[in-house]
Amino acid sequence: MFEYAPAPESVRPQINEHYGLFVDGEFVDAEDGAVFKSVNPSTEEALFTVAEAGEADVAKAVAAARRAQEAVWGPMSGSERGKYLFRIARLLQEKAREFAVAESLDNGKPIKETRDFDVPTAAQHFFYHAGWADKLAYAGLGPDPRPLGVVGQVIPWNFPLLMLAWKIAPALACGNTVVLKPAETTPLTALMFAELCQEADLPAGVVNILPGAGATGAALVDSAVDKIAFTGSTAVGRAIARTVAGSTKRLTLELGGKAANIVFDDAPLDQAVEGIVNGIFFNQGHVCCAGSRLLVQESVADEVLERLKARVETLRVGDPLDKNTDIGAINSAEQLSRIRALTETGAGEGAEAWQPACDLPERGFWFRPTVFTGVQQSMRIAQEEIFGPVLSVLTFRTPDEAIAKANNTPYGLSAGVWTEKGSKILWAAERLRAGVVWANTFNQFDAASPFGGLKESGYGREGGRQGLEAYLDV
Ligand code: NAD
Repeated sequence: MFEYAPAPESVRPQINEHYGLFVDGEFVDAEDGAVFKSVNPSTEEALFTVAEAGEADVAKAVAAARRAQEAVWGPMSGSERGKYLFRIARLLQEKAREFAVAESLDNGKPIKETRDFDVPTAAQHFFYHAGWADKLAYAGLGPDPRPLGVVGQVIPWNFPLLMLAWKIAPALACGNTVVLKPAETTPLTALMFAELCQEADLPAGVVNILPGAGATGAALVDSAVDKIAFTGSTAVGRAIARTVAGSTKRLTLELGGKAANIVFDDAPLDQAVEGIVNGIFFNQGHVCCAGSRLLVQESVADEVLERLKARVETLRVGDPLDKNTDIGAINSAEQLSRIRALTETGAGEGAEAWQPACDLPERGFWFRPTVFTGVQQSMRIAQEEIFGPVLSVLTFRTPDEAIAKANNTPYGLSAGVWTEKGSKILWAAERLRAGVVWANTFNQFDAASPFGGLKESGYGREGGRQGLEAYLDV
């Protein structure tokens, strides 16, 4: 195998030593003065400190968002709102390199992913929704769909800027104002986005950003907003649904997953192997729709596993800012210990773990790509979301058995099907209980395509015409 010289990214974004909360167009400290640190997971060094929002700050931000919605953003014409969104999209493109590096520093994900996926796709969401802002009456949701008002949004750490874009772009296009809470381990790009809103002259109070942990999120859910949009774990989603039940607040939930990536014996195996690798090792496996269960037809299982292991041996784990890196750092010490604990249950329950012989950096949070064989459906590694670079391999003999096994989890977010036969793709897609089914590909996203789950993966859709419905009173 070739050895590559290091190819470090040279751009360094402007990262402040300290960030405030972004409320009513200004950066301010928390009422009670609380702060926390954000850590670079590849070095364990603190990157900056940031104010932590409490209940009083949430109330202030929601009041600012309410004023802005009623006085400015709600009454504004769709075409004017669209201009702001186009401006935000263009600014994101202009600053793409800085955002990509900042995301890699704060999150640990490889620069080639932030540069080629996270940031461009975030910009795409703003461009796409900018186009909708003056065409909402033609979205098939009634002749005069109205905004909901003020929206509280809570997002996870796995795609910090992209999840922000998935939430903020449609909300603003539909005439709502927002109070968004980024995840506690990855607030940086949300704060840089707040600076970008200032640069775009977005009216004060239209976007408010409140860094903080679970308590801040819970306070936002409890506040006087009209809707909560949440992306995160099923456990927290369930708690939020309980809080919101009985109130007039709307709720959409984008939760966890345990996707099956099904390889039939007539599949193009080399492409399938690429799809398996992308499905589970993209973003260190910190992906809600990751193809974390490989279901492979028994007759080709040995061949697929052999090619898969050879391919995984070539993956480069290490410095997220190196352009050759395929797998970066695990986002936090907590997530690393969760991955370790669940992986140990796999070995304990009798599955066989395989890992490539790669070196890991000494400092930071790292986990080797792992492939489990001999996995039974009842094992925790076949049922629970590991949210790390860990693949569980199961086999099947007939298409019916593949579908039964694929559907045998509480989740229903995504699935993949690999076969040369179009009829088999359609047959499988009809039977898979998943919000998204990819055929002969995996992890494809587009702002025009709705994304969301079935079963315990949540409800509501983000993206596309369908995603607008979640932000309109129709
Ligand atoms: P998490 O549920 O622990 O946290 C998500 C967010 O909720 C964070 O901002 C957190 O601070 C906040 N939070 C925590 N407790 C809260 C509470 N009681 N009330 C309100 N907010 C609270 O999840 P995580 O570990 O950050 O993210 C990983 C999870 O997110 C995985 O399960 C993954 O599948 C899921 N996810 C889903 C999608 C999707 O679109 N379906 C996308 C990305 C991630």
